[in-house]
Amino acid sequence: MAKVYNWQLGREMDYRFPNGKAKRQFAAVFNINRCIACQTCSMACKSTWTFSPGQELMWWNNVETKPYGGYPNHWDVNILALQEKANPGAQVWDAARRSGRAAPYGVFEGKTIFETADQVNNMVTGYIPPEADWKAPNIHEDTATAAPAAGVTLPEHGGWFFYLQRICNHCSYPACLAACPRNAIYKREEDGIVLIDQNRCRGYRKCVEACPYKKSMYRPSTRTSEKCIACYPRIEGSDPLTEGLPMETRCMAACVGKIRLQGLVRVDDRGEWIEDRQNPLYYLVHVAKVALPLYPQFGTQPNVYYIPPRWVPRPYLRQMFGPGVDDAIAAYTHPERETVAVLQLFRASQRIVFSYKIEPGPKTAEITVGGQKREIFNDTIIGYDSNGKEVVRVTVDEPTAERPGQLNSI
Ligand code: SF4
Ligand code: SF4
Ligand code: SF4
Repeated sequence: MAKVYNWQLGREMDYRFPNGKAKRQFAAVFNINRCIACQTCSMACKSTWTFSPGQELMWWNNVETKPYGGYPNHWDVNILALQEKANPGAQVWDAARRSGRAAPYGVFEGKTIFETADQVNNMVTGYIPPEADWKAPNIHEDTATAAPAAGVTLPEHGGWFFYLQRICNHCSYPACLAACPRNAIYKREEDGIVLIDQNRCRGYRKCVEACPYKKSMYRPSTRTSEKCIACYPRIEGSDPLTEGLPMETRCMAACVGKIRLQGLVRVDDRGEWIEDRQNPLYYLVHVAKVALPLYPQFGTQPNVYYIPPRWVPRPYLRQMFGPGVDDAIAAYTHPERETVAVLQLFRASQRIVFSYKIEPGPKTAEITVGGQKREIFNDTIIGYDSNGKEVVRVTVDEPTAERPGQLNSI
C-alpha cells in the first residue's frame, strides 16, 4: 500500500498505488439547483455509447431523485452502511481543521473504503448489486419526503426531494482501478480519464464491487465490465466542429437545464489542483467554494463537483457533500458578483473553456434575498479555449427579443 494525499479529506490515506503523473484532470461542476430531470443527458449518452445488445441496463449517465431513488437501488445507503459497520460511530469530520487548498473542508477522521478493506481478499470495501437493482433506473421519481405544506419557504423545506445527476467521477484514486486483479483499468496521464481495457478485462466484476458510486457495469454479452469513457474522442478534439480543440462530452453538451460545466484542470504530482485563478472550475471549487465533491468520505477523490440544492435539510447534505455544505449554499444564495458571471458560462459553448475574463457592466437591478440586499450588474464574461482564443461571450442579463406584432404566414 502506498500513502497518497487526498486534499478532499485533508489528510494522507492508504491506496494501492502511488500517485500517477497526471498533467490535467477531467472535472465538471453540476448545479443541482437547476436540473429539471429531463434525462436528455442520459439519452445523449445512451444513444452514443450504450445502445447495443447486453447494454440494456447500462446507464453511464443517470439522474435519480433523492432521497429514495438510486441507480442501482440504494447504492449510497448500502455503501454508507458497510462503512459504518466497519468503523461504528467514527465516520466523522473535524471541520475546524480547514486550511487552504490542502484541506478546504477540514479533516476526515473516519476511514475510507480503502482503509476498511482487509487488503488481502479485498483491496476496497464494496458490494455487487443484484441484477434486480439495475432494472429501474428512475425508481421513486419525484417522490418527496412529505406532502408539500402550504407556504413553504427557504432555508429548508419540510417536504423535499432533488435530482442527483451522476456519471463516473474519473476519480483521482479510482476504487475500480485499485480492485482490478487483471490491471485492466488505467488512468490516463494527459487528462485523468479512467478507462477499462476491454482486451485485458475478464469480467471478474471486482470493479463493479469496488466502485462506491456503482459506475462500473457488467455487460453479459461480452462478459466484460464497461464504464463511462468521458467521451474521450471529444476531449481529445477529434470532432471537426471544434477544429482539433477539446470539446465537452455528450451528456454535458446536451444538458437542457444548463446545469453542467466541464473542463480540464491542471494538477500536480500529489493530485492537488494547481492554482489557476481564471479557470472557471478552479474558481467555483477553490475560490468561491460553491461546488463540492459527492461523498468525499469514500476516499476516491471524485472529480465531479456539485452545487448543493438550497432547500434540502442540511444534515442530509452534510453527509452527502461533507462539511463544506453550509458555506457552499451561503455562497450560492448570496453570490459574489464574479460568481454570477461565471455561472453564465454553463452550456454557453461546446468547446472547453480554459480561462475567462470579466468586463464590468452597468448596475441593472437591486434585489432582496433572504433579507439581504443585492445589486445585479450586467457584466460580460468571455471564455477562452486552450490556445487563449475567445470561444464565448455572454452577459449576466440574457438578451431578449420581442416578436413583431404581425404574425408570420404559418
Ligand atoms: S439534461 Fe441537464 S437538466 Fe436534463 S436531466 Fe440531465 S442534468 Fe438535468
Ligand atoms: S466513479 Fe467508480 S468507476 Fe468511476 S473512476 Fe471512480 S471508482 Fe472508478
Ligand atoms: S461523459 Fe460521455 S460517456 Fe461519460 S456519461 Fe457523459 S456522455 Fe456518457
